[in-house]
Amino acid sequence: MESKYEWGLGDFRLAESYSQLVKYYLDNSVHVDKRLNWQVKEVVWKGDDWSSSNPRGRILLRNQHGEVLTAKYVIITVPLTILQDGDITFIPALPVNKNAAINTIQMRGAWKIVCRFKHRFWPDKLQQIYSVRGFSSEIWTHSCDSPDSDVKCHVIVGFETAEPAEEKSVLSGQEVLDGFLSHLDEMFGTISDPHPATDAIMDHVYFHWSNHPFIRGGYSSPTAHAYDLRHVLASPVEDRLFFAGEATSLRSCSTVPTAIETGTRVADEVCRVAGLIPCAKL
Ligand SMILES: Cc1cc2nc3c(=O)[nH]c(=O)nc-3n(C[C@H](O)[C@H](O)[C@H](O)COP(=O)(O)OP(=O)(O)OC[C@H]3O[C@@H](n4cnc5c(N)ncnc54)[C@H](O)[C@@H]3O)c2cc1C
Repeated sequence: MESKYEWGLGDFRLAESYSQLVKYYLDNSVHVDKRLNWQVKEVVWKGDDWSSSNPRGRILLRNQHGEVLTAKYVIITVPLTILQDGDITFIPALPVNKNAAINTIQMRGAWKIVCRFKHRFWPDKLQQIYSVRGFSSEIWTHSCDSPDSDVKCHVIVGFETAEPAEEKSVLSGQEVLDGFLSHLDEMFGTISDPHPATDAIMDHVYFHWSNHPFIRGGYSSPTAHAYDLRHVLASPVEDRLFFAGEATSLRSCSTVPTAIETGTRVADEVCRVAGLIPCAKL
């Protein structure tokens, strides 16, 4: 198992947040023409100028305002849900096996709430709870109250994926907060202190990724009856359309590192087809 992960099996956190990762790539791509808020709606990948004698005819991309870009190759890295929901019209349609992979591999919902409390009301050594009933299926705790430091922080995170998460996508933020605090009160309340979480809450952050218009879920997951379909999902179509993103990882889906790996893999694929030397090898 360890050998599957270049980074090992530990948990890592970027001390200055994920914005550092984005900054790193932006700093290293200063000469790249970047377009933000450019929602691809249509990909015409065999246009009028395409023929077997002119296989490099330009691919046409159209956005939400009807603006057009053309390209020799296109790398598609949108979440699986975006492809499943048909946000992007491919002309001609993608091959049948590609669509089968897109529509079979699952990417379900996910939400997370991070709550900060005035004090710790849970046992000192408790770090993680998997809850088979109650509001949130996973609960993680973090408490920092060292006499050697001014930093005092008591945080509990609620996290949930798949069907139970999707059921909660219609709830308001307040309803999720109330439900989560009640769950904690039920677990940690005593006769003398029946509502420790509700009484000690300071602030919180909540987000449901199913409701994000350009993500619509958490991440892809191992799926029954999807054997070898990741390979199909990751494969280029006629060496013109290329596919990356966490769902296309053949090693392990669902994570930022594997999403980055797929980006490197697909850059190599395009370089090979275009007869270029991959940047990393220059
Ligand atoms: C709650 C939660 C917790 C997680 N925890 C962890 C963790 O602890 N560790 C970890 O490694 N990973 C974690 N992940 C997973 C990780 O965030 C994803 O696997 C990773 O971000 C996927 O990267 P990606 O590049 O494949 O897709 P994304 O980062 O989703 O990028 C896809 C991009 O496509 C854009 N897009 C969508 N539609 C269009 C369109 N029509 N035109 C143009 N662009 C479009 C989107 O705006 C987005 O920017 C977590 C995810 C969730 C939801």
